Formats: sequence, C-alpha cells, structure tokens
Amino acid sequence: MIVKSAEFICSNTQISKLPPPVKPEYAFIGRSNVGKSSLINMLTAKKGLAKTSQTPGKTQLINHFYINDNWYIVDLPGYGYARASKTEKAKWDKFIHNYLDKRESLQCVMVLVDSRLEPQKIDLEFCNWLGERGLSFVLVFTKADKQSSIKTDQNIAKFKKALLATFEESPQYFVTSSETQLGREEILAFIDNINNN
Ligand code: GDP
Repeated sequence: MIVKSAEFICSNTQISKLPPPVKPEYAFIGRSNVGKSSLINMLTAKKGLAKTSQTPGKTQLINHFYINDNWYIVDLPGYGYARASKTEKAKWDKFIHNYLDKRESLQCVMVLVDSRLEPQKIDLEFCNWLGERGLSFVLVFTKADKQSSIKTDQNIAKFKKALLATFEESPQYFVTSSETQLGREEILAFIDNINNN
C-alpha cells in the first residue's frame, strides 16, 4: 500500500467523542517508550505526525490518524509506566478496555513489544486479556536495529513460547525498525489486505 495521505484527526479523553465508527481502525498499543510514535511516523512517512518522547504516563489520550481517506491508525496510551500511581493505572485499564471492548470498527490490535527484551509480564498479560475477549491482534516487535537479528529471533521465540501457555497458536508477528523502515511494507500490506476483504 502506498500512503498518500496521513492526517491527524483528533485526540480524545472520552470514548463518547471518538469519530463515528464507520471506517476500519487499527489500534497501536504497547509499553511506554516501546517506540509506538516512531512506528506510526515510519508507517505514514510523516515525521511529526505522532509525538515522540512525550512524558510517559501523563496524558491518557486516544489519537486518531486518518490514512488515505479510508482507514484509521489509532494511537492508544502506553501501559506499564513504572511511576504511574495505582489510580492512574486503574483509569488506564478502564479507558482502554472500554475502547477495545466496544469499538465496532476495530479490525486488529497491533501490540508493540520491544524486541530487545525477554518476555515481559505486562505484555503477556495484555495479550492474554485480548485473547480472553476474542479480540484479533498481532505482535509488532520494535527497535530491531538495536541488536543482532539472532538476538531478536531469540526474544521472539521466547515470547511466542510464553504465549503458547495460554494460546493454541502463536499470533502473527512483524519485526520492525523505525530507523531502517524494516517491516513497513509488511504491516501496510497486512492492513491493506484486511481493508479489501
Ligand atoms: P513511545 O513512547 O512508545 O511512543 O516511543 P517513542 O516512539 O517516543 O520512542 C521512544 C524512544 O525510542 C525514542 O528515543 C526513539 O527515538 C527510540 N526508538 C523508537 N523506535 C526506534 C527504532 O526502531 N530504532 C531505534 N534505534 N530507536 C527507536
């Protein structure tokens, strides 16, 4: 898919104010600092579209970006910010779970995972939560340029193995780098395929 246009539409703190659910949506989510904003900018080839390196855990916003006047990238607030209070964490849970549970136009959740790390409990828990709800998701391993492909493959294998404790099959995954554009074509083709079916 060629990205001809990518436009910021709105930032919301309330589910009730989201755009009407009439176009396909792909939600991007992961731990704070996983590289979500960089990935969105890489996919859309628009540098400042999603704001990188904001203070993590501060504002709980759902950002909608409209692509090719046809589908949305939805930038969800990151989870797992170490310094977030219990109240903030509970608020995040409620907000995000509400969106994911109820959004009719949501096609797939893109779960971002840092490829440099061994499986993290919070990522596995989030995948399990999606699985329990029957929500469709794929894994997007980020920052692959930061280490050897052998190391990346090892971490992916461990992650898949950990998921097999609760899933019958491991989900589809993509290996990405916002620096080298690794994975860009694959993710856009994946989205294109769903949009056209
Ligand atoms: P977010 O909090 O998940 O939106 O993460 P950001 O996109 O702001 O990225 C967090 C940090 O990781 C920034 O310093 C980015 O420059 C860096 N980063 C993100 N993606 C990559 C990547 O693919 N490769 C490298 N080398 N650095 C990355």
